[in-house]
Order: sequence, then C-alpha cells, then structure tokens
Amino acid sequence: MSLLSGEWALPTRGSGENESVRHVARRRYARSMRGLVTGGAGFIGSHLCAKLLEDGWSVVCVDDLSTGSSANVGHLERVGGDRFIPVISNLSNPEWRSVADKYDYDIIYHLASAASPPDYLAMPLETLSVGSAGTLLSLEFAYEHEARFVYTSTSEVYGDPLVHPQVESYWGNVNPVGPRSVYDEAKRFSEALTMARHRKLGQDVGIARLFNTYGPRMRPGDGRVLSNFVVQALAGESLTVYGDGSQTRSPCYVSDMVDGLLALGGSNITGPVNLGNPQEVTVLELAHMVIEVTGSESSIEFFPLPEDDPKRRCPDISLAGEKLGWQPSVDLRTGLEIFIDWMKDRLMKGISDGE
Ligand code: UDP
Repeated sequence: MSLLSGEWALPTRGSGENESVRHVARRRYARSMRGLVTGGAGFIGSHLCAKLLEDGWSVVCVDDLSTGSSANVGHLERVGGDRFIPVISNLSNPEWRSVADKYDYDIIYHLASAASPPDYLAMPLETLSVGSAGTLLSLEFAYEHEARFVYTSTSEVYGDPLVHPQVESYWGNVNPVGPRSVYDEAKRFSEALTMARHRKLGQDVGIARLFNTYGPRMRPGDGRVLSNFVVQALAGESLTVYGDGSQTRSPCYVSDMVDGLLALGGSNITGPVNLGNPQEVTVLELAHMVIEVTGSESSIEFFPLPEDDPKRRCPDISLAGEKLGWQPSVDLRTGLEIFIDWMKDRLMKGISDGE
C-alpha cells in the first residue's frame, strides 16, 4: 500500500459504473455496492472488508496503520483487485478525502480507533481525536455521499456496569476522568454526535455496541486478554490474570461480529444495538480454557487489576435478535480452537506484530 494511493483505480464518480445505483430506491444490501471502512486494516475492519469484497462489493479502506497493519489487507489487494482501494491516512486529518471523494458509496462503516486497553492508554490523545474529529469527518462524508453511516461503538459505554446483563437502555457507569475515559468517552461522544445528526439532519445512521471480540488477525502483542493468554500458553509462559480473575467477559468470535455489522448496515435500524456473544465466563475460567485447549503446561500468575476494570460484562442481545434477526453462532470453545490454530501458525512462522 502506498500513501493515499489511487493506483487501485475504481471507476470514479460520473464514470458510468454504478451510476444507476444512486438513482434507484436504495438497495440496503446487495451485490455491487460500495462501502468505505475506516479502520479497515485493523482486526475487525479487515474481516469486514474481506466479507464485503466476497459479497461483490467495492471497498475503500482508510487506515493509518497505527494499530492495524498492511499485512491484514495484503491478500485483499489480490482477491479484490481493483474493487479494493487502501488509503493510508489518519482519519482525523481530512487528507483521506482527496482519494475517497472520487467514489460514490452506499455505506460508511466507521471502525477506526485503538480498541485494546494498552493501546488506547498509550495513545490517549489519538484515541480522543479519532473518536471526535474522526467521527465528525466520517459522518459528514457519509452525509455528503448520501450513504448510510454505521458506527461501531462499544460495551465500554456501559463502563463498570451496575445492570447485568447490559441492555441498550442502560446509561452506563463510566468514570469520565479515569484512564479508560479516553476510549469510553470518545465512544460516548461519537454516539451522541451520531444521534444529534440523525435528529437534526435526518442522517441515515446505525449504532452498534460491540462486546469483546476475538479471532485471527488480533495482534499477538495487542495486550487483550485472549491474545495474551493464547500467546503465553503457546510459549509455555505463565498466564497473566489481572485481579483474582473473577471479573467476567463474553467473547464473541469475529465472523459473528462481522455478520452483525452487515445485518445492521443492511437494515434501517438506528439503534444502538448490542452485538456480542452472551456466553459469559470469568477471566480465570478463560485462562483454564486456553491452557486446556492449547494442551499447555503453563501456570497462572496473578497481577493487580487495572484501574476501573469492569467487573462484569455480558450483552443482552434480544434487540439484535428481534430487529436484525442476528445472533452469534460460534461457541467459545470452537472459536478458541480456530484462533489458537491461527496464532500457533503465525508464531511458528515467526511473524510479529505489524507484519
Ligand atoms: N486481563 C487479564 N490478563 C491479561 C489481559 C487482560 O486478566 O493479560 C483482564 C483485564 O483486566 C479484563 C479482561 O481480562 O478484566 C479483559 O481485558 P481486555 O484487555 O481483553 O479487554 P476489556 O474488556 O477490558 O476492554
């Protein structure tokens, strides 16, 4: 990929192809549409780009490669050919529009953001910037292109929740000045901005709240619980459990998450809608599961719990079931097996983060 590359030229606006799509009643999800994915070279974004291309879409992927990598989308340049256009640019800087503006779009999926706690704690200002300026630019871009805007928010908007499982109507329990606020509040601001534009301008938007997601293309060193545990177990090192491990999470396999995003994109639902897998486990149970599935002899070591670490997290996904007909289909053990095989292969080949 090269900076702001137009080498992978698609027919541009007004050049004929897909012209009619703009002038017929909007088909919500059909072949031969075009999407723009911010954060498209990241973990979830790269899977979303792949699925859109597989479904016959053309995709423009905007990413600054701060936590994503060109390796995540290298194969898409081969598979998608000229239907895949990578644009390396920071979303908060409008320069990406010089390439992206050449095309028409049906949907803008806004995923760009650091998402792993160690990443966003190391990049607090960048995280706030992409979750404010980046969201505004993406919203304006979608509006000008008459495209539906799908925002990927997070279960972190519920903070350390006092309601369990978390329903969309729960307003959350976030520390606005704690270290995690750079992520939580940026996401909450983005939701507020998205809804304000929807109310004020009638902008076509959908908000998804994503719960912990895992699967191939997570960076081995991204610091999240499953990447850490799997890498540690495969290396025979101790698994690092924070706190006493009684805090819970509900891991969702990445292909299920992408299906949920496609369902929201193809609907006229504004949301917010929770997307996640309600199979809730404690972090300690997760550690034992990873040791068992990898067949590792690793032990478990306990470390202090990070500040404001949520104690329980599990999505109520009734709304997604009712409005989108969506529910996850990959159970935790099956997903873990696939993820572990992928990570094993990657580590055996000596591929490190960013490659
Ligand atoms: N965690 C852990 N060991 C690790 C990494 C994370 O025990 O090596 C814990 C972390 O404290 C949290 C949970 O696992 O309670 C999930 O953390 P993660 O960073 O994956 O995402 P979060 O859900 O906190 O955003």
